[in-house]
Amino acid sequence: MKYYSLTTPSHKISFQQAVVSGLAPDGGLYMPEYIPELSNEFIGQLPTLSKTDIGFTIARPFVDESIADETLREIVSETIDFDFPLVVLEENVFALELFHGPTLAFKDVGARFLARILRHIAKTIHQEIAVLVATSGDTGSAVAHGFYNVEGIRVVILYPSGMVSALQEKQFSTLGKNIQAIKVAGTFDDCQRLVKQAFQDEELRKTRFLTSANSINIARLIPQTFYYFLAWSQLNTPKQVVFSVPSGNFGNLTAGVLAKKMGLPIRAFVAATNVNDVVPEYLHTNIFKPRASKQTISNAMDVGNPSNFPRLLALYNNDWNYISKEIHGYAFTDAETQTAMLDVFTQKKYVLDPHGAVGYLGLKKYLESTPSAQGIFLETAHPSKFPDVVESAIQQSITLHPSLAGLSHKQIQSISCTSNFSDFKNLLMKH
Ligand SMILES: *Cc1c(COP(=O)(O)O)cnc(C)c1O
Repeated sequence: MKYYSLTTPSHKISFQQAVVSGLAPDGGLYMPEYIPELSNEFIGQLPTLSKTDIGFTIARPFVDESIADETLREIVSETIDFDFPLVVLEENVFALELFHGPTLAFKDVGARFLARILRHIAKTIHQEIAVLVATSGDTGSAVAHGFYNVEGIRVVILYPSGMVSALQEKQFSTLGKNIQAIKVAGTFDDCQRLVKQAFQDEELRKTRFLTSANSINIARLIPQTFYYFLAWSQLNTPKQVVFSVPSGNFGNLTAGVLAKKMGLPIRAFVAATNVNDVVPEYLHTNIFKPRASKQTISNAMDVGNPSNFPRLLALYNNDWNYISKEIHGYAFTDAETQTAMLDVFTQKKYVLDPHGAVGYLGLKKYLESTPSAQGIFLETAHPSKFPDVVESAIQQSITLHPSLAGLSHKQIQSISCTSNFSDFKNLLMKH
């Protein structure tokens, strides 16, 4: 399998090269040259297969033969070494819980896969790899934990000052060793821009092996297709299955579309967002208008210029009629999100996190017009990652997950930086 740059389609490289470079030199995103098709037989067998068998079969055609079957199987098995339960909330409404990994959010899957692929690559090239990542919260902790102590890799995490929760900040800025957090005086979009500029900087590229761990990295995207198959495998009689994906940078939804194109019979998707609604707006109007992000209670989705959007469009041949038929976009305010959290808690005794709540709302809205569908929304983070938001929404105190409770005494070790590229570059050159 080769990968091509969306900006210059004739620029084709191998999987390993695409992983290490993150973005193409022209700033384009890498895409697989074709979408591998899985057999109906494989789809039919899903309920009887192990997680590792499912993940390995999906990943194999995407990954160079230079990574042997045995190695890839081990990478997949370590990556998804936790549960992905499908919880019934109402008739035809299921929550796919993606928060049972080490940092309690779905981003663990992509980060763990990428870290293990990079560990393998660093070993083969006998060179240290520097990983740059911008985070609005969960990416940082998933990447920090996924890469912590991984030999041959240094990680730099950029995050917007004052815009990630205290717990999230502690999750990624207290580890030390090969993990360095940088607190940027700016927004998440500024952090993403700094990362993009670093990749386009000749001098930086020359002096070190740079790569990205953001959802633009193809090695994060591929394993995210696994959980659509894992969800499917848990349905008794799958029919007209719809996935509602609470979205920010649209990596998760792009992975879902990949899963569908590989052969998983998904009827439709819901792109559910908070008030950062450039994609739902596009789906309604055929006008794509990126803008500055607004802060909300589902802060991991506060994105004004979604980085995976060009990939999503490419999967639909840049055809608005096609994409708007298959993906339904809905946006929700914080007040609507809080009400959903309270309602679901009162009626079902189920605690939604603010991101999953947006997915739930999107699904309910879709089901209003298509009640015969079976709906799955992605519960992307554990609610106790956002204790303040959750407690005020459900008017009840919650217990912290044990892995979070231990963080309060840890010391934050981040360095501060302006949102100016030359300041950031100086910092990088020094470290
Ligand atoms: C990152 C994140 C999202 C958004 O996922 P994208 O792939 O960026 O669309 C949703 N929920 C949580 C909890 C997240 O951390």
